[in-house]
Amino acid sequence: MKHETYPVIGMHCASCASLIEKKLKKEKGVHAIEVNPGTETAKISFEESETSPHHLSETLKPLGYTLALPSAQPSAEQMGMSESEHAAHLGTSQTKQEKIKELGKYRRNLFSALPFAVVSLLAMTWDVLVEMGRVEMLSDQWQYITRVLLLLMATYVLFVVGKPYLVGLGRFLRTRRANMDSLIGLGTSVAYLYSLIATLFASQLNGVIDTEMVFFDVTIIVITFITLGKFLETRSKIKTGDAIEKLLTLQAKTALVIRDGREVEIPITEVMHGDVIVVKPGGKIPVDGLVLDGYSFVDESMISGEPVPVSKEKGATVVAGTINGTGSFTFSATKVGSETVLARIISMVQEAQSSKAPVQALADKISSVFVPIVLVIAILSLAAWLIIGYRTIGMTAAFSYGLISFVSVLIIACPCALGLATPMAIIVGVGKGAREGILIKDAATLERLHEADVIVLDKTGTITKGKPELVSLKTMQGHDESELLSLLASIEQRSEHPIGTALVKAAAEQSLPLREVTHIDAIRGKGIQGVIEGKTYIVGNVLLMHESKIDVETSLYEEDANSGKTPVFIAEKIGGKGTLLGIAMVADAIKAESQEALTALKHLKIQVVMLTGDHEGTARSIAREVNIDTVYAEVLPEDKLSIIKRYQDEGHIVAMVGDGVNDAPALAQADVGIAMATGTDVAIESAGITLLHGDLTKLVKAFRLSRATMAGIKQNLFWAFAYNVIGIPIATGIFFPAFGLLLNPIFAGLAMALSSVTVVANALRLKRKKLS
Ligand code: ADP
Ligand code: MG
Repeated sequence: MKHETYPVIGMHCASCASLIEKKLKKEKGVHAIEVNPGTETAKISFEESETSPHHLSETLKPLGYTLALPSAQPSAEQMGMSESEHAAHLGTSQTKQEKIKELGKYRRNLFSALPFAVVSLLAMTWDVLVEMGRVEMLSDQWQYITRVLLLLMATYVLFVVGKPYLVGLGRFLRTRRANMDSLIGLGTSVAYLYSLIATLFASQLNGVIDTEMVFFDVTIIVITFITLGKFLETRSKIKTGDAIEKLLTLQAKTALVIRDGREVEIPITEVMHGDVIVVKPGGKIPVDGLVLDGYSFVDESMISGEPVPVSKEKGATVVAGTINGTGSFTFSATKVGSETVLARIISMVQEAQSSKAPVQALADKISSVFVPIVLVIAILSLAAWLIIGYRTIGMTAAFSYGLISFVSVLIIACPCALGLATPMAIIVGVGKGAREGILIKDAATLERLHEADVIVLDKTGTITKGKPELVSLKTMQGHDESELLSLLASIEQRSEHPIGTALVKAAAEQSLPLREVTHIDAIRGKGIQGVIEGKTYIVGNVLLMHESKIDVETSLYEEDANSGKTPVFIAEKIGGKGTLLGIAMVADAIKAESQEALTALKHLKIQVVMLTGDHEGTARSIAREVNIDTVYAEVLPEDKLSIIKRYQDEGHIVAMVGDGVNDAPALAQADVGIAMATGTDVAIESAGITLLHGDLTKLVKAFRLSRATMAGIKQNLFWAFAYNVIGIPIATGIFFPAFGLLLNPIFAGLAMALSSVTVVANALRLKRKKLS
């Protein structure tokens, strides 16, 4: 099975999205389809043996849509190469260019229709003034001239500017499937046709219909307004989608590689694993790799968020998209094309922007049944006017009013805004996140985060720096300090735990020799065991000591632990028992921003919980410092998961933040898993949200972002519904008998254009909103 996302050409509206989904769902070999009206893309899962994207595109043609298929589908390996190819693969620049072209078309159409709309409005105003007795009625001759003028203008506007709507109407007549364009086309052409007939056959029809009342102005103004709406909407859509563009520009186009002993410049498409790449002062790093030679500082802020340039020498990792300082160096390419961190970030942001938020389901359901229902309402209101009006106001007036209702209902009922409400906010929200160093996996994650009321944080590496340092050593059995440290470091030399790293580093600083160790056994959440010269040693926490029946007097470490240091015990195991050899105290500094961030979270009314495998006293001391009330200490990795479960069983929505290294199960169990990326080692696939630069203030921003996005979506949905819920009944004329209230189709057109524009404008407001 294949999952692909294709840009869709010819989409205007939410109703288009549901039309396409319905049509393709019926196709053989299609497992799932999700169409996003915001990004105008279709995400399709299909069986390659049963169907092809080309076939699917052909299926959509009669409905007026095509899938933008890359001429030759580039494989994932080829991705992220030359900028244009890359963009073509991702489908961004391509559609952006199309969007810009479309915008030009709307602008031209708008400006050609605008003068006519102004003339029509003037004519309307004159009529109103006549009715108010403020001006003289025009002479018959002038009235005739105005009518013909309006006819000519309406003809131009309907057939030239309004062509897409006529095409939509034609499609509806042929395929019986209506979208928004069809409704607008039907409304405006009915108004036009009626007026044309009333004008051409005025003498014959006199008495049958009110030949004085024509609607050329409706056709002109409605189409102008709708074009204005589309113009504004397209313009804003281009603005909302620029986060990806920014990321794409980070990518270098070429790389300097050494081939046959010479430096040659090649397109980054041609860089292969193991290529030796030369980076000159001020140059962009083209792919990910390992430094071989040379020395420099590299600005990694675009990827890691770290504002201070990072020093690079032999063995350091460099990532694509970062910028070299004044030194120069060579490195060996380890990740190219789509494997680079940058390429993965780009594709993740893109995926997320086109994913659907669960809240959208309702809007989708409504807009899929909307169009047929609106058609029925429009016809019913026309019929009602004729049947009821025939007896009360006479046939001619009834027909005029009925026609106004019919046209108004069709025009005001556009579910455009409804379909745009969610995706526009998601695109902006995800894009804004990416700029702030908050990588969000999908819309559902963003939605769930705003409901989270409990946040569970791992201590090590999340609240603290995760880089503990040895601060003191106590020896028990007559060893001297260096001997003990050497022993500790020897056991830990292959450990991946930060405590192990700290001990090895401390020994190296004193140039202590390391001894050979065998039978190394890491005991998860407790410590490590190893054999040196036939003797078995254990290094770890107090739990590990108790397990081996080693008594440890609390007075030996209590005081240090209560001031935030972690005691690390070393003992020799002899038979079923053992002797304590010493205690090392390590301290992991609290990150500078932790306190501020956690206090801010409390203000957001989120319960903050700290989890750690560390000693109780140590944990409490640190929690106190950063203002956390709930602490679970000495927790084994597997128990982290059950603590989260317990909160969930109590009905809480839990977000868990960890470094993603040994917290993977807990991150997966939480409703929202948030990984702290340290440096440029971005494990973006593992968590719902990745915070770059391991910065907790980004966590606060992520919460604010999700709340702002969801608030935006709710406002959007409210307004979109409101326009329709209020507009449709008024348009039918149901309030006319009692209040004389009837919606002029011109206002219906204005309202409809406004509703889409408000939704998009609201999304853009989110883009400018400050998160801190
Ligand atoms: P956390 O990441 O919350 O600190 P861990 O499960 O990684 O929790 O570790 C729990 C505790 O186990 C540590 O605080 C430490 O006391 C002990 N520990 C684990 N591994 C080691 C090790 N390699 N060396 C020394 N102590 C260790
Ligand atoms: Mg940990």
